[in-house]
Amino acid sequence: MKTLDKNDKDFLLASIRTVEDFPKPGISFKDITTLLGNEKAYSLLMNHLKSRYENRDIDYIAGIESRGFIFGASLATMLGIKFVPIRKPGKLPYTTISEKYSLEYGIDEVEVHIDAFKCEKDKPNVLLIDDLIATGGTAKAAVTLINKAGANCIEACFVINLKFLNGDKEIKKITPVYSVLEIN
Ligand code: AMP
Repeated sequence: MKTLDKNDKDFLLASIRTVEDFPKPGISFKDITTLLGNEKAYSLLMNHLKSRYENRDIDYIAGIESRGFIFGASLATMLGIKFVPIRKPGKLPYTTISEKYSLEYGIDEVEVHIDAFKCEKDKPNVLLIDDLIATGGTAKAAVTLINKAGANCIEACFVINLKFLNGDKEIKKITPVYSVLEIN
């Protein structure tokens, strides 16, 4: 299960709905709610991720708001390790640290609690998870944030990589990238 064969990948891809022109014209939105609503697809995906990461030295899984919470929290409980949410500004109640990143127009920001990665280890290992990588801006800021918070991001994992946008290339400069499915 460490690698998925073509049939498994095709099955997972077919379970994801594409919604054209959402949230704005020209965007082909990958809707993972149909994967979550297909128990065979969801469990195939999560068992694959479990087998990929169960023998790695990982202390935390960090999920990016909001769809990264679903896969990240599920995997954390399957592996028996801790989960940390990385959120949009103003959502986390305690003291936070943040990292800004550029959008096509303007800037956005991700935040994490200042003590999110405090454990017995000096520099805990963190696996970052999100549903999808497009331009890579959000994930790159999240990796930087994890490292700024005193942890060590060992890999960034995505269910879907929109490969034609080359977002993974930027992130590979700072951490390894794994995507279950690639869309060219
Ligand atoms: P980016 O920072 O450009 O890599 O955007 C990644 C974030 O935007 C992820 O949290 C995705 O959930 C969301 N996203 C961007 N493009 C799409 C898309 N075509 N379909 C679904 N989600 C998307």
